[in-house]
Amino acid sequence: MRNDKHKRLVIPGPVEVRPEILDAQTEWMIGHRSTAFSDLFARLQDKLKQVFMTQNRVFLLGSSGTGFWEGASRNCIRDDRKALHLVGGAFSERWAEISRANGKQIDVIDVQWGKAHTPDMVAEALKKERYDAVCFVHNETSTGVTNPVREIAEVIRPYEDTLILVDSVSGLLGAELRTDDWNLDMVLTSSQKAFALPPGLAFASISDRVLERAKQIPYRGYYFDFIELEANLLKNNTPTTPPVSLMFAADRQLSDVLSEGVENRWARHLQMRDMTTEWAFAREMGVFAERGYWSPTLTAVDNTRGISVDDMAKFMSGKGFAMDKGYGKIKGKTFRIAHMGDMQPATLEEILSGLDEFMGV
Ligand SMILES: *Cc1c(COP(=O)(O)O)cnc(C)c1O
Repeated sequence: MRNDKHKRLVIPGPVEVRPEILDAQTEWMIGHRSTAFSDLFARLQDKLKQVFMTQNRVFLLGSSGTGFWEGASRNCIRDDRKALHLVGGAFSERWAEISRANGKQIDVIDVQWGKAHTPDMVAEALKKERYDAVCFVHNETSTGVTNPVREIAEVIRPYEDTLILVDSVSGLLGAELRTDDWNLDMVLTSSQKAFALPPGLAFASISDRVLERAKQIPYRGYYFDFIELEANLLKNNTPTTPPVSLMFAADRQLSDVLSEGVENRWARHLQMRDMTTEWAFAREMGVFAERGYWSPTLTAVDNTRGISVDDMAKFMSGKGFAMDKGYGKIKGKTFRIAHMGDMQPATLEEILSGLDEFMGV
């Protein structure tokens, strides 16, 4: 039985999961070396390729998205070479830390939190040094900035040795991303953000170039060894025991996503983004992210009215919503409204009018 005191999640991950999707997890268990499992895996593979907009394979693993960060750093950066990390928020910073923690050499292009990275910055850096990879975040969840992935990838592509590795954990399925059209070698994501699934699954599209690189690296670790994952994927399987229940949920959710249409889903997110940013300005607050790069999946509202985010969250909890209070060093100075996943504009309207009531406007 589900708890009827549930607060609907308006935080940027995990996001609210529809009851039908929760229910899909209660299917009878199957063994992962069975035909039923390889059928499930193959179905997921087909749907994942469609939503990633790629002909590349899409790895699936029981892990959070962070696992594929580590996998990317270990499988794509040779020990005697460097990677370039674009850092402008808590998540892009953490990925750079993970590369370092795996003993990789990196350079960083830092921008102030709230700013986007531009293709020019990347082009400049690429003129000075040869990189094995450029690692960057599509949608920086701490600040609500969406980076111009397509334009950045365009300046990297001419460098044949440089892999384009993109974290789209809070972007994919909410913000436009076209893996093959944009020439992205690896796009990684988690289940609990714009996919609107429970946490515990990670997905990553992997180009042939990535696998070629991985073969040149002797110590790739074990759990996130791309060569091993590929060998198993060819048999519609995973090297280790996968989260089968979550895969049942993903099977159902991806069918629903494809019925809605990925592009319609992007449009619904943009509509909710516009509702939120217009609301923030009309209430004399504002948007933390640089204009032109506002995220379709979440808005970090500039708390220029100085509202107490604790009181706000408490008030909204009374309305049945779990709110965010801001992330890391901009907590309180900003708070984030997630408009992500399966949220509908009508729900967002309810949230915004709840906030109005709290502020007495
Ligand atoms: C949430 C998030 C992560 C971390 O994902 P986990 O699934 O928690 O490991 C990485 N990058 C971005 C942009 C995120 O929003």
